[in-house]
Amino acid sequence: HLRFTSQFHDVEDAPVSHAATANSNPPAAFVPPRRVLMGPGPSDVHPRVLAAMAQPTIGHLDPAFIGLMDDIKRLLQLTFRTRNELTMPVSGPGSAGMEACFANLLEPDDTIIVCDNGVFGGRMRAMSERLGAKVVTVKDPWGRAVDPQKVEDAFKAHPEAKVLAFVQAETSTGALSDAKTLAGIAQRHDALSLVDAVTSLGGSQLEVDDWGIDAIYSGTQKCLSCPPGLSPVSFGQRALVKLMSRKTPVRSWFMDFSLVTAYWGSGAKRSYHHTAPVNALYGLHEALTLLHEEGLEHSWSRHQKLHAELAAGLEKLGLEYLVPKDERLPQLNAVKLPEGLNEEPLRRRLLEEFELEIGAGLGEFAGKIWRIGLMGQSCTRQHVELCLRAVGSVLR
Ligand code: PLP
Repeated sequence: HLRFTSQFHDVEDAPVSHAATANSNPPAAFVPPRRVLMGPGPSDVHPRVLAAMAQPTIGHLDPAFIGLMDDIKRLLQLTFRTRNELTMPVSGPGSAGMEACFANLLEPDDTIIVCDNGVFGGRMRAMSERLGAKVVTVKDPWGRAVDPQKVEDAFKAHPEAKVLAFVQAETSTGALSDAKTLAGIAQRHDALSLVDAVTSLGGSQLEVDDWGIDAIYSGTQKCLSCPPGLSPVSFGQRALVKLMSRKTPVRSWFMDFSLVTAYWGSGAKRSYHHTAPVNALYGLHEALTLLHEEGLEHSWSRHQKLHAELAAGLEKLGLEYLVPKDERLPQLNAVKLPEGLNEEPLRRRLLEEFELEIGAGLGEFAGKIWRIGLMGQSCTRQHVELCLRAVGSVLR
């Protein structure tokens, strides 16, 4: 028996399996089913991205790879709409980029205002607490955008707050918050804005420089339509000043941006920090290329237009939206289910009969809503039509 103990978790004795060493069944190659991904992410990946990722691996310091990194940085700057020099993909999923941003900007006893209107606002709070910050929470109901007036009030009560953190696109509920207004409030109170753009980047308007956003992170598996596992981030000048004038070192060596920039900084001279996920970065480069071949603003309006078509169809099926119309995310459609419906077998039928993945509700909405993603390559008229046909069929 193996015994794993942790200060925070009870883990039962686990029997050690010897089956894997017996070699009676040689392993078979894994062949994934062909799904249509309309959940809260990942979204469908374009064949060009998959083909890019299948190219030969080269060294992460190869001059050819350095050229690719420069291109990725430029494409990310275009996508975030920023000139920030510190713009790069963190090697890890959205939560890694998120934790890296908090770890770089917060020091123990700093006060941070965190807007909590869903699962990911809650995660921001948990990360801030672990870093020893004093957390002031601005609560809004799940399914609503962040209320800017409550944020103003929180700054009045806590003028010492150094950071304001909020989620632009709350994937757990489908609510879109007004990032421009919220970043403006932080600036007026001489605090840094730290924005979660995991689900918004590429799908909704986002203007890092024009809106005065200081620090931002995203993920690759939503509207960028890449496989999961990378987290684009960007830090502006004010965030860099905070990072460079810290009294304490960033607690995490891996996430310390002042060290990672030796690798992701500008110019041909790059030095080893960690071994970058080379093939994943080929994929990100191709996905960003596809996005800018379409045009960023075209992508935003495609999400809006197809969301309107999906919404009209879902409402015809009798499904009501969770979020009021003017606070709705086009790329995440949260609809209420009829009371008492056992939704899990229906989602299984969508998968088995239509190869269609949609998302269940989380937290207080578990069993009560469905979350239908229209993200990136999964945001096409064919996706909308399949979804309406499939959902209509299982609800009949
Ligand atoms: N923030 C938001 C708004 C998200 O939707 C997600 C993932 O769904 C995350 C953060 C975390 O990203 P990841 O699951 O890639 O770690």
